Amino acid sequence: MPATHELTNQAPPRVDLDEFGTNAALVEAVTRHDAGWAADRLGEIGRRVGSAAFQADAVLANTREPVLTAFDRWGERIDEVVYDESYHRIIGAAIADGAHTGAWAAPRPGANAARAAAFMLYAQIEPGHACPVSMTHAVWPVIAAAPDAIRDEWLPRLASTGYDGRLVPGKAGATFGMAMTEKQGGSDVRANTTTATPAGDGTYRLTGHKWFCSAPMSDAFLVLAQAPGGLSCLLVPRLLPDGTRNAIRIQRLKDKLGNRANASAEVEYEDTVGWRIGEEGRGVRTIIDMVQQTRLDCILGSAAGMRQATAEAAWHARHRAAFGRALIDQPAMTAVIADLQLETEAATAAALRLARAEDADASEADRALARLATPVVKYWVCKRGPGHAYEALECLGGNGYTEAFPLAMRYREQPVMAVWEGSGNVIALDVLRALTREPDSLAAFDAEVALAAGADRRFDAQLSRTRGLVREVLAAPEPAARARELVAALALAFQASLLLRFAPTAVADGFVAARLGEGAAGQLYGALPGGVDAASIAARA
Ligand SMILES: Cc1cc2nc3c(=O)[nH]c(=O)nc-3n(C[C@H](O)[C@H](O)[C@H](O)COP(=O)(O)OP(=O)(O)OC[C@H]3O[C@@H](n4cnc5c(N)ncnc54)[C@H](O)[C@@H]3O)c2cc1C
Repeated sequence: MPATHELTNQAPPRVDLDEFGTNAALVEAVTRHDAGWAADRLGEIGRRVGSAAFQADAVLANTREPVLTAFDRWGERIDEVVYDESYHRIIGAAIADGAHTGAWAAPRPGANAARAAAFMLYAQIEPGHACPVSMTHAVWPVIAAAPDAIRDEWLPRLASTGYDGRLVPGKAGATFGMAMTEKQGGSDVRANTTTATPAGDGTYRLTGHKWFCSAPMSDAFLVLAQAPGGLSCLLVPRLLPDGTRNAIRIQRLKDKLGNRANASAEVEYEDTVGWRIGEEGRGVRTIIDMVQQTRLDCILGSAAGMRQATAEAAWHARHRAAFGRALIDQPAMTAVIADLQLETEAATAAALRLARAEDADASEADRALARLATPVVKYWVCKRGPGHAYEALECLGGNGYTEAFPLAMRYREQPVMAVWEGSGNVIALDVLRALTREPDSLAAFDAEVALAAGADRRFDAQLSRTRGLVREVLAAPEPAARARELVAALALAFQASLLLRFAPTAVADGFVAARLGEGAAGQLYGALPGGVDAASIAARA
């Protein structure tokens, strides 16, 4: 019998390794940002998410899609979404490891960097569950500042590391979602038409719809609605205090581009009970503290996706030969892998720097820095994600294009991080707003990037060009028309400054050469200028 299917030259599965320990950029950033104390725990998480069992669950969660069960068999509305057990195991593990609220529940220097790393490790392998985990982390500052009764009820549940996906009363833990976007407007939430009418007992009754409401089985949501005093923020739980269901009618689930594990719903409210947080008319101001956190998590999620893409690409290139040599040793491929790694390094460094700035002990300067740098980096890293995933996918050749390998899913997933929580233009305009209204944030940003001044003449040129651009764009008759140009320049200066200060020389030099050189930014991956030490950079992938 001829052995027509004797298998040679295919990479083995990339499983059963430590996703933390093998990620040099993440390990270094964790240490740098005062979270070295979490290294053992992160190693455990790295081994868990790297295990064959966890990766098999990630595949199952994305093939056995959540299903809406709007009615029970007798016709009673139940509005439940049924997830596969694999999804529950994944989110349960992430919550047990504090990837949701660990940074707030046990604050200490570096707590947000440690939580960011845990979140990234989980999101690297399965991005769907990361959405509710992120929103649960993000809601904490809002709930912590809420009236006593709300805070006392919900904070202990948020802090709990116990997960129970059922819609039943008496659960120890809770997850949160958010519902702002309506059919007629998402970015412009002032156009919201959902109403919140005072019920006379301190609660409100909501009537209206939300066009996007992800993770609809969350235990509660922050919702924007029009109260008599204007757009307001309300806490809307799925279960009322007596254990009955609040009227959150799930109309249908979206058929989305990205991961298939997380459900995003369209919902309607009909005399739905809500509790106001913050003043009437100050809804955006109230929910913005949650949005600031989810924007940071979009950066973390994109960076985690880049890590998955780069690691899978490098793995394949090391195990596959073509034309007589391992792909990784073919100079054109070495350059591609090195370039993918440069992007991952820059995203990871920026992500962890910003996470550290969210800790309770962060200085005023760090808070001001985060105000500007978070939207700057959110814009840039999330926009860089899809192209990065595409290039990584191609490193696997035809295999990469099939759903049997994880990068097809990653390629579909990466765009959402840019769309959600401030689409590209909206986030770029937010940067302009911070620059004009909060000059402290620009001063803090400038001071941060200037710490790398003198390290590289190409960086010094970028710094002075960026400073000039800030003045020029803000003085222009229509600054918004040049918002993206300005934000890109700020982002590259921020990333380059961090790599010059902290990354190995090959990485810092490679990034500066490939991204700050004349006309460099925006080119395709793998077009590294001469003199870059691609082999050393690729070795870190
Ligand atoms: C998978 C997924 C899950 C989501 N989950 C949730 C959720 O749980 N809760 C929730 O509330 N929302 C959710 N959303 C909605 C998301 O936040 C919105 O889609 C997003 O805010 C954009 O709003 P929009 O769709 O109304 O687009 P629009 O606001 O109409 O924007 C359309 C385009 O116009 C641009 N634009 C807007 N204003 C300007 C301007 N002034 N100048 C120039 N350009 C502008 C935007 O950048 C965008 O590119 C989700 C979206 C997706 C894709």
